[in-house]
Amino acid sequence: MRKRIVAGNWKMNLNFSEAEDLLNDMMDLLEERPADEETEVIVCTPAVYLEMATDLAIDGNFYVGAQNISPHEYGAYTGEISAPMLQSMGVTHTIVGHSERRTYFGETDSVIAEKINQALKYDLTPIYCCGEVLEERQSEKQFEVVKRQISEAMFHLPEAELGKIIIAYEPVWAIGTGLTATPGQAQEMHAFIRKIVAEKYGQETAENIPILYGGSCNAKNAAELFANPDVDGGLIGGASLKAGDFVAIIHS
Ligand code: PEP
Repeated sequence: MRKRIVAGNWKMNLNFSEAEDLLNDMMDLLEERPADEETEVIVCTPAVYLEMATDLAIDGNFYVGAQNISPHEYGAYTGEISAPMLQSMGVTHTIVGHSERRTYFGETDSVIAEKINQALKYDLTPIYCCGEVLEERQSEKQFEVVKRQISEAMFHLPEAELGKIIIAYEPVWAIGTGLTATPGQAQEMHAFIRKIVAEKYGQETAENIPILYGGSCNAKNAAELFANPDVDGGLIGGASLKAGDFVAIIHS
């Protein structure tokens, strides 16, 4: 059976004490009512809070992820944070290819492929984000776009490495907008992604790869989205900033 995963992406929000309070509140709620055993919880904090989060994660039942990594391993790349640095702090996951990084920082699938390589080299699980913008959906290009993103960023990998990735389908028109893909739209794309992975790597690898939905997923709509057979959980932005909402999503 595939893992169920709920990952929070705090983006560039919260000061240090707010971040600490949020993690403590989340841990208190999960102590009162633990997540079920098949559900993995990941919190992707801003880089400056990762050390605090990995310290707290020792007592809490959650993993800590970065929101981005450098495509380079070390050297003269001012301001960048590398995979070996993250690994040495106890970070276990990293988001790669988030649409905000593609849009505001010009990340292309070939750069994202390098980031995935770095993550895997240092045992960080990449959470690879893909998804179409509104005009692409309106012109019915969503499948073509997602297929291109997935093949360019991931299909150079051997099967064993590809099997370590978490995919997050995040229609860009749904991120932070309050617009959510319908459960039918999410299921249709997730099944499509599984199909293209199966075509390249075989049915077993495709059946095992977790595919998360992201885009205005919240405590109210999570259960309906997660009930789809190919939706294995969510990548949660705004709603991960409130402990009660995030934990309600985990219990969905
Ligand atoms: C995200 O940033 O990955 C995301 C899904 O954001 P939101 O839940 O706020 O739409």
